[in-house]
This record gives sequence, C-alpha cells and structure tokens, in this order.
Amino acid sequence: MDYKNLIAGQWDATSEACPNVNPSDVSDVIGTAAQSDTADMDRAIDSASAAAPGWAAATPQMRFDVLDFVGSEILARKAELGQLLSREEGKTLPEGIGEAARAGQIFKFFAGECLRQTGDRLASVRPGVEVDVTRAPVGVVGLITPWNFPIAIPAWKIAPALAYGNAVVMKPAELTPGCAWALAEIISRSGLPEGVFNIVFGKGSVVGQHMVDHPKVDAVSFTGSVPTGRGIAVACARSMKKVQLEMGGKNPMVVLDDADLDLAVEACLNGAFYSTGQRCTASSRLIVTDGIHDRFVAALTKAMQGLKVGNALEAGIQMGPVVDARQLEQNLSYLKIAAEEGGTVIGGEGLSLAQEGFYMAPALVTETRNDMRINREEVFGPVASVLRARDYDEALALANDSTFGLSAGICTTSLKRASHFKAHAEAGMVMVNLPTAGVDYHVPFGGTKGSSYGAREQGSYAAEFYTRVKTAYTLP
Ligand code: NAD
Repeated sequence: MDYKNLIAGQWDATSEACPNVNPSDVSDVIGTAAQSDTADMDRAIDSASAAAPGWAAATPQMRFDVLDFVGSEILARKAELGQLLSREEGKTLPEGIGEAARAGQIFKFFAGECLRQTGDRLASVRPGVEVDVTRAPVGVVGLITPWNFPIAIPAWKIAPALAYGNAVVMKPAELTPGCAWALAEIISRSGLPEGVFNIVFGKGSVVGQHMVDHPKVDAVSFTGSVPTGRGIAVACARSMKKVQLEMGGKNPMVVLDDADLDLAVEACLNGAFYSTGQRCTASSRLIVTDGIHDRFVAALTKAMQGLKVGNALEAGIQMGPVVDARQLEQNLSYLKIAAEEGGTVIGGEGLSLAQEGFYMAPALVTETRNDMRINREEVFGPVASVLRARDYDEALALANDSTFGLSAGICTTSLKRASHFKAHAEAGMVMVNLPTAGVDYHVPFGGTKGSSYGAREQGSYAAEFYTRVKTAYTLP
C-alpha cells in the first residue's frame, strides 16, 4: 500500500517513499509513505486556505453529516482498522481495536457538537444596546500527531477542527502512516468539500516545521515530545499563531497502606505496562507507603513477570513490542542508568522471539530516589520505578516533585485521602483507584506544568482552541 498525500481533494505522491515496518516482525513491510517536501506542504496549506471560508459557512447539518459518516465507518470497520493499528504500532489487537472504536466514538461525539454550538446574548450596560458573544472558526489549523495513538489522537484533533468549521492540514507521525492514511481515505469519501482536509506525510523536521512556520496557518495543535513541543511553541509565538501542546508525562501512582492490594496491583500493571508503556499517561512512578511496600512490590513483580509478551497480532498476547529500534535502545539505556544510580532492576531484558521484532520484558526498578533520572525523565516504554514513602504527606510531596503534570493516581480506601489528593495533586487529570492511563472522550484531556500548554483537548472544551470568540454590539 502506498500512502499518498491528500491535497485539494487529490491523492498525490511525491517521488520519495519511506517503508512502514511492523515492529512485531520486521520482515513485514506494511506499506510505504510519501516523504513530502516543503512545496507539498505549501500546496496543502494553500488548498486549506482556499477551502476555509466555504467550510466556515457550512450549516451545522452539513458538518454533522460529514462527521457522522466518518464515525460510523470507523466503528463499522474497527476490527480491520484495529488490526492495521496493531500491525504498525505494536499494541495488542484488543488494544488496537479498542483505540479504533474510540476514534469512531470521538467523531460521533463531535458530530453531535456541530448541532450544539451556542453563543450568549447579554444586555448591554448601555441602554437599548444588545451584546452577542459568538464563536467563529480559527481558519486553517495545522495538526501534528505522534505514533503512540495513531488513530485516536488524529481523531481527537480532526473531529473538533472540522466540527467548529476549520480547514485542516495534518502531518501524522512518521512511524504510523497507515492509520492516518486510512482515516484520510474515509474522510475523502465523507462529503467534505475538497481541500477542507489535507494530509501531508513526511519528516517532522521538514514538513512539520514548515507548517508551523507558515504564515497562512492560523493555529497549531501538537501532541508529542517535550523538546519538539517547546520548539513549536517558540515558532508559533514568533508568527503569533494559536498553539496547543500535549506532551510527556512522569505520572505518579500513589499506593497507600490502606489500599486494596489486588486493585492497586491491577491498576499499576495496567497503567505501567499496557500498550507497552507507550502512553503519555503511563504510571511510571509508583509511590508506595512503607506498610504495604514489600507486599505490593512482590505482588506486582509476580503479575508483571506473568505478562505474555509477543507478536501484537497473536491471540492472548498482553504486551506487544516497542515501536522501533531507537525506542528499544532508549528503554534499555534508561534501565542501565537506573542501575548505575542505585536502583534494583527487575526484568527489562531484550527478548529474541520467533519473529525478529523490538521486544523487551517489562521492567520494575525498585529502591529508587526521586532525583534519579528514571524518575525525572520520560522513558516511554514498559518501565516503572518504585519509590518508598513514609506516609501520605511524603507520598503527595513526591508525586508533585516533577516538572511534568499530566495524570496522577492514588489507590486508597480513605475518602479523606482521596479527596485531599484530588485537590492537591499537581496534574491535569487525577485518578482514584484507577490506572493513570485510560480516559473518557467527552471530557477535557490535558495536563499542567511541562506536560501541556494552551487550551484543553476533547469534549466541549475543545471549542476553546478551535474557535475565536467574537463580541458584537447592536443598537437596533
Ligand atoms: P515527537 O515529538 O518525536 O513527534 C511528534 C510529531 O511531531 C511527529 O509527527 C513528528 O514528525 C513531529 N515533529 C518532529 N519535529 C518537528 C518539528 N521540528 N516541527 C514540527 N513537527 C515536528 O514525539 P513522538 O515520539 O512521535 O511521540 C511520543 C511523545 O508523545 C512522548 O513524549 C509522549 O509522552 C507524547 N504524547 C503525549 C500525549 C499527550 O496527550 N500529552 C499523548 C501521546 C503522546
């Protein structure tokens, strides 16, 4: 399969192409993606710019019909799309199908939002004057997405962008072009006017950077790593673009003495290792109070070592491979550093399986301190560290001692502690007796501190980013 760019309603390839390799089996090349240049990006932006006024004027019913079509088709094809996702990204098949279904639900939600866009009418402080506050589309939005949720993240950016009347240029992650292309192909048959949605494959440093710098792009929504996000924020400030960044995490999960041990182990197993730990909301710092620490570490170690690692497409597999060789090397090197800094590493070996892929065993690093690199920097793999805490107060202080603030969790049976933690955890999302990863799609998603910048994504809060507020005064 050739993944071509969609520009002005036409599928057009560039001469260079890049292979899409299955991380579970590197002999399986799924397709090739266009390696576009800045001229391709220019054409995509021109196309979006020309189509933007027409889509901004489209009726809510027209927008609803487009988004509803896309959502329905994704849901009807979730098994096939989930299979493609697992094949190119490496999460297990149930996770891949679940993510595809999520993308469909997101389109359905924003289809409904097309019909629910409201404004305010207020009395003026001046006699006889009426005041209207309405939301207008931003114009051309540039969307830049990572590889770890290759269909859900594009969906949660594209759907609100279109629902609120914007034209889109999307630059998907290099490692997962298949899902992005499949989504673009569905959108191309949805009845959306040509040019409103464009997709350009290629290198972030080339076409992504060009999009961010381009004067005709009005807003940029980015999900990815902190260094890339920081550069994008600077570029957007220079050209006065609206910008929204969702970046990394070093998410704490606090386990208190009074926790239900089985529930805490299950939440940490899921939060740390499912999706091969490649989630921005993964539970990577497990902060455990003294009274339960040893029992918890023993039980989690046993559960972790029981996880079945293998080809993402095989039935019964609980953890697929890491996404590529570079990420595998990064994970293994963090484990080496953690051991050098005094941690005890359990598991984490590179694995050779029947098919050549990027496999490793999940790893727990115990007896760590919060100043160790394993607790400061995002690893982005199946690696969690354990920190001991004397009591709740110390656990909370450790949880908040991070430059990140995406998600934070606590396992406790104390309502008092749970309520205190919800109020005082420095994170955009707080979980009680639930994994730090795993969120709903109809409520805001995002973090604080170094994890996020700009308006929240998802739910009706997405309007903050994808619209501009206009205030109109009338003397009838
Ligand atoms: P990345 O930053 O390497 O790349 C993300 C995207 O940015 C890709 O499409 C890439 O091509 C593009 N890009 C790279 N350089 C660019 C540039 N100079 N200008 C414009 N675009 C550029 O991230 P990744 O490795 O694909 O994804 C993993 C990261 O994403 C992790 O840090 C993870 O925590 C984060 N993430 C965050 C969230 C969240 O919502 N907070 C969700 C998922 C993943």
